[in-house]
Amino acid sequence: MSWLETLMPDEYVASIYEIDLERLWGRGIRLILTDLDNTLVPWNQPTVPESLTKWLKQAHDRGFHVCIVSNNTSGRVLEFAQLSGLPAVGAAKKPKPIGFQQALDRFQMDAKQAVMVGDQLFTDIRGGNRLGMYTVLVLPIEPNEWWGTRMVRNLERVTMPLLCARGLQRPNSLRR
Ligand SMILES: [Mg+2]
Repeated sequence: MSWLETLMPDEYVASIYEIDLERLWGRGIRLILTDLDNTLVPWNQPTVPESLTKWLKQAHDRGFHVCIVSNNTSGRVLEFAQLSGLPAVGAAKKPKPIGFQQALDRFQMDAKQAVMVGDQLFTDIRGGNRLGMYTVLVLPIEPNEWWGTRMVRNLERVTMPLLCARGLQRPNSLRR
């Protein structure tokens, strides 16, 4: 897998609400691994919006397991996990395999049965791809971010055109 291939998401959508759950199910995916900050809620937001609660119910009703895999501190992640009722792996060290593997092991699933959803190419997408998971990139919910993330966004900005040149379709809302 070339460096660029590790960064290529299988799908790129505006938000989690645009994900076609039925299509994922049809691919044999049963476990949704998801990033937390700027994927489910804005960075460090401690509350669970109603829209997210509804989406989670929809996913659970369809039969999916949903588990947070986040690089944020265990404290932040566990607090959100309790509030949302979601299982979670905090301080996951994405893109390293360890956190993803913990989540897979918890549900006794193979990487091929899991999708990784996240807003960052270099952690969420790269990590998921390297394990052979299906990967879905979402737009970050808002620009407010941890300083380390803001630095990496510059790298994303130069990488994104390369991925688009290789056929990555940007979300409808970004197409003109
Ligand atoms: Mg994120």
